[in-house]
Amino acid sequence: MEKPAIEGGKPVREKPIYYGHQYIDEADIQAVVEVMRSEWLTCGPKIPELEQKLCGLTGAKYAVVCANGTAALHMAAMAAGVKAGDEVITTPITFAASANCALYCGARPVFADIDPETYNIDPEKVEALITPATKAVVAVDYTGQSVALDPLREICKKHGLVLIEDGAHVIGTKYKGQPNGSLSDMTTFSFHPVKTVTGGEGGAVLTNDETLYKKLLLYRAHGITRDESLMEHEPDGSWYYEQIALGYNYRITDMQAALIISQLDKLPMFSSRRKEIVKRYNEAFSEMPELFVQREIPESDTTRHLYILRLVPERLRIGRKRFFEALAAENVCCNVNYIPTYYFPYYEKLGYKRGLCPRAEKLYEEMISLPLYYAMTDEDVESVIRAVSRIVDFYRM
Ligand SMILES: *Cc1c(COP(=O)(O)O)cnc(C)c1O
Repeated sequence: MEKPAIEGGKPVREKPIYYGHQYIDEADIQAVVEVMRSEWLTCGPKIPELEQKLCGLTGAKYAVVCANGTAALHMAAMAAGVKAGDEVITTPITFAASANCALYCGARPVFADIDPETYNIDPEKVEALITPATKAVVAVDYTGQSVALDPLREICKKHGLVLIEDGAHVIGTKYKGQPNGSLSDMTTFSFHPVKTVTGGEGGAVLTNDETLYKKLLLYRAHGITRDESLMEHEPDGSWYYEQIALGYNYRITDMQAALIISQLDKLPMFSSRRKEIVKRYNEAFSEMPELFVQREIPESDTTRHLYILRLVPERLRIGRKRFFEALAAENVCCNVNYIPTYYFPYYEKLGYKRGLCPRAEKLYEEMISLPLYYAMTDEDVESVIRAVSRIVDFYRM
């Protein structure tokens, strides 16, 4: 048996590999440069072009692109009417923004536990937490696998709640054959560089509802309108506009929009490569009883954003921390997505206590995000598998 690097062996790879990385080609660079030579750096033609492209991709009627995925969630929560005194149900296994959007609106995030095998929010747990104060559900398509949309939509409809899908991981995924993005009241995307498609920064809210769409447009730009039918006063002249709500500057630049448009042309390629890598990881890890492979639901045709390696603690002599360090010693640099949101001191000070979502907390103790991105070579993938196998072999019970 080969000794793991952390025990003095030779690392499986010489060059470090990271858990995520963007892929930028010459067409992407040209697309950005073209905008920089044009008249419009912001509020230009690339904005509606990107919005139309997102509608075409997902089948959503409306898209509002914005500064980032967090701004998208904030705008969606505002459009949903979330306000002080309301409750918003979400998962703790996500980036902090999924719950922060409720706090931005003065509402209280309520954390529902996950399904122990898919790691997505459990619809039964959601329903059990509904109170008269509940206004919305923020459901995260964690790792890129669609949440259980049918049961969630039914619960939201029954209780009059707005379903916001935090689709930061989900671009390229289909639920029952339909692209995620058109299937909830609102779906948000993120175009951060670790996500499947990037603009450096960037986000979007997609919806089929015209009323929500009009609100989103207002919140993106200070609550200011030039639409006379929305104004309270007679226009003073053709320069006239009115602020009719409190919005923000959540605009995205045309350079970023152009980059996202160019990246979206590569989505089929990104998607199929990510699927290949996931298949190879799954094949290798499902043979090891020391590891648990995330359950895939048949409804979701998944473009995976994250690959979660989950340890079976009863079968290993080391815990997640040592396993993570052992991978780093092999030059396989991983991450942990995510720390349960309510563990953060800011949330603790708001009164949230550990123990709230035991399944999420157990997952957090046992998981590591392995490298997964388009530009990984087969050799990279095999080296990650070799590193994991070597550590499992050495430390199995
Ligand atoms: C990345 C991410 C966000 C936030 O997106 P930004 O574009 O970084 O603001 C929100 N939710 C989830 C689940 C994410 O992964």
